[in-house]
Amino acid sequence: MPVSTAPPAAPTAYADFDALRRHDPEIAEVVLGELGRQSDSLQLIAAENFTSPAVLAALGSPLANKYAEGYPGARHHGGCELVDAAERMAVERATTLFGAEHANVQSHSGSSAVLAAYAALLKPGDTVLAMGLPYGGHLTHGSPANFSGRWFDFVGYGVEAESGLIDYDQVHTLARQHRPKAIVCGSISYPRHPDYAVFREIADDVGAYLIVDAAHPMGLIAGGAAPSPVPYADVVCATTHKVLRGPRGGMILCGSELAERIDRAVFPFTQGGAQMHTIAAKAVAFGEAAAPAFAAYAHQVVANARVLADELEAEGFAVLTGGTDTHLISADPAPLGVDGKAARGRLAAAGLVLDTCALPYGDSRGIRLGTAAITTQGMGEAEMPRVAALFTAAMREEGEGARKVRAEVRALAGRFPPYPG
Ligand SMILES: *Cc1c(COP(=O)(O)O)cnc(C)c1O
Repeated sequence: MPVSTAPPAAPTAYADFDALRRHDPEIAEVVLGELGRQSDSLQLIAAENFTSPAVLAALGSPLANKYAEGYPGARHHGGCELVDAAERMAVERATTLFGAEHANVQSHSGSSAVLAAYAALLKPGDTVLAMGLPYGGHLTHGSPANFSGRWFDFVGYGVEAESGLIDYDQVHTLARQHRPKAIVCGSISYPRHPDYAVFREIADDVGAYLIVDAAHPMGLIAGGAAPSPVPYADVVCATTHKVLRGPRGGMILCGSELAERIDRAVFPFTQGGAQMHTIAAKAVAFGEAAAPAFAAYAHQVVANARVLADELEAEGFAVLTGGTDTHLISADPAPLGVDGKAARGRLAAAGLVLDTCALPYGDSRGIRLGTAAITTQGMGEAEMPRVAALFTAAMREEGEGARKVRAEVRALAGRFPPYPG
């Protein structure tokens, strides 16, 4: 049963493609080609989803023209009355949806949200405890290639070798040893719910702020399909474009006592003018996420991931942590005789698009996938064994066999158009 809240609509319902075609056929070809690519392959990148035509309409609207530095009622530009209304609605909907005292909806991306959270709470050189990158930490959790690793002193926690689960004793030991100013809980590939209450206890024990980077699970949290970090965290950072199915962007939730520091850390400290078309689109997405159909969607995303994880394990993949609680599956294809990089290439050739990920052991990489996008398309548990079977076929087949697998993926995708109409 399709659980998408997206009303059926032709792509032309949210943008004037004819004008783009006439005006710039080269870019029109890219845009329509990309719509074709998204429609005839399976988007299994864990961070991707299909936004609704309503979200795309707000994104492609004249709000994109408006300069609006500052916050509603206190802008540095004139003519902001209407975009102020959009931002007030986005904030109101976000605080209601997530039960937070304060929301900042201006962050341009998940990374910008994390940057602002650090700017609000930390000084350069402060110690921060976060999941190590080899275990699933994000670039903003201390990568030397990122501002975070350059400006702060990051200490990484890991997962237990056997279970693949967060080692809370290790988190506690490292916290006591290094006395971090902040502890970051969040990951790009951890498929289980973190125990936010335990993170809170550890943070309190060492007097650290708790920052939850919920970029991935925020949509599940909105739909009641994952526990909320809001009651436990000082600051919650998130993206709006992953399971939450909104426009590409970020958001920050916090209590009233940190509201002003967070707002000032976003603007004027780390950003300039707010992107009002995106903020309006975030408001649309929060509105959609508050509807009962979105709760059904979020639960279906998890149900699909659980079945797909079991099926992939049956096909021979080593599924990290033995399964999933979320939309996300991390797996090692080594038992099938290939590493993550080779697997990603073979799967992509078949139209099964996903990422590699670090593995908490050894040097080889695994694969990381998610069910957010295929669930928006209307796939349910019934389709998951088929998807898993296509995985093994894609890994095994060459030449004519591989072309057949590609055609089968195209046929499956064709039954679930992301933008029917
Ligand atoms: C996706 C993600 C981010 C960054 O989001 P961008 O919008 O790509 O900057 C940050 N942290 C975590 C844990 C993520 O999964």
